[in-house]
Amino acid sequence: MVICGRLNAFDDDLQQRLDAIREQGLYRELRRVDSAQGPRIEIAGRMLLNFSSNDYLGLANHPALKEAALKAVEKFGAGAGASRLICGSLAPYHELEGTLAAFKGTEAALSFSTGYAAALGAITALVGKDDLIILDKLVHASIVDAARLSGAKLRVFDHNDLNDLETILKWADKISKAESGKRKAKTLVVTESVFSMDGDHAPLGEIVTLKEKYGAWLMVDEAHATGLFGENRRGLSEATGVSDRVEIQMGTLGKALGASGGYICGSRTLIDFLVNRARSFIFSTAPVPAAAAAATAGIQFVQCGEGEKLRSLLWRHIDRVGADVRRLSNSLTGGQKSQSLLTSSPTSKENLSPILPLIVGEETKAVSISSVLRERGLFVPAIRYPTVARSAARLRITVAATHTAEDVLQLTAALSQIVNRKS
Ligand SMILES: *Cc1c(COP(=O)(O)O)cnc(C)c1O
Repeated sequence: MVICGRLNAFDDDLQQRLDAIREQGLYRELRRVDSAQGPRIEIAGRMLLNFSSNDYLGLANHPALKEAALKAVEKFGAGAGASRLICGSLAPYHELEGTLAAFKGTEAALSFSTGYAAALGAITALVGKDDLIILDKLVHASIVDAARLSGAKLRVFDHNDLNDLETILKWADKISKAESGKRKAKTLVVTESVFSMDGDHAPLGEIVTLKEKYGAWLMVDEAHATGLFGENRRGLSEATGVSDRVEIQMGTLGKALGASGGYICGSRTLIDFLVNRARSFIFSTAPVPAAAAAATAGIQFVQCGEGEKLRSLLWRHIDRVGADVRRLSNSLTGGQKSQSLLTSSPTSKENLSPILPLIVGEETKAVSISSVLRERGLFVPAIRYPTVARSAARLRITVAATHTAEDVLQLTAALSQIVNRKS
């Protein structure tokens, strides 16, 4: 009985915290989907048009990836048995890493069970308490968590602000020179290439110049650019022409590549070092072999002609929806600029992005627009704090190559009606 009372007190405490979350319009819940991921998903017995996925090319349910996964299950089974250093490293991971390195044009690659694990493993291996890590203000939570866990001194520069970055680099340079007796402190700069919630691009060329000027290392998270940007779809680093100058290229296999897992690409030495030091790699059971096989098929697919066709379909949809969304976003926020796409010139190919944020502001308002859209058969998530800053809630709209032109029209028509009514 005593224990039972204690457990009740435990739940009461959590319930109070949940109530507080709810009051702020920040409560989240899972919505069960009874179909495969795709342009249409089934929720609560209804088919909804899906504008929420990062499966930009529609590969998550593509026959080529499914077949690769099935074959891997037949040959290598359902599970991996242990971590790769413990019970042997199954062939599908090696095929994946060979394919990844060739795709990215790097010496080597290492796969992780998720992108989150890749960030955590790499950053905590590379820097420690004597070092400095400098992050763009809007980087993904996986990088923030990794930076904190690493114990390195953490500094944040204003989003895409090169002056602010240089000020911090200068300061770091001065400090490390002053402490010349000790091991020379390392400085690691981390940015995303295409930002996950705003869709805008980092000025990678300028960031590379700066990190070289001050002798820092650079890690670029290409989660939303891999498979979409650059001549060989390697990502924004390729499109910007700086791939060879980025020490650590990170990304996920779970977005445009359609499968699941994360990766680090770079020099052979970097990869050997991570195999020895990345704790999220060493102390975690290897992903299911089917995930690695599906990812390999996804990488091959984006490089083939059919993949290129899907990519151009995607850009065509984005061209159509992007201008409308920017206009609506401006009308909702009174033309006030957010740290986003809104600030960049709308039609230049350079700034095209698969992520189209419709900035709403107030959390409850974003949730209510999202639920009106759902009643009309459109699934568009409301993104709120802590994923984005408070009072910067938004609908995060993503289109996929597998949407039809009518799907996209339906989206823009519904958005205009609802937004014009609300504002
Ligand atoms: C999704 C995402 C990750 C994490 O990748 P997962 O494979 O989903 O764990 C890391 N960085 C960014 C920018 C992302 O959007």
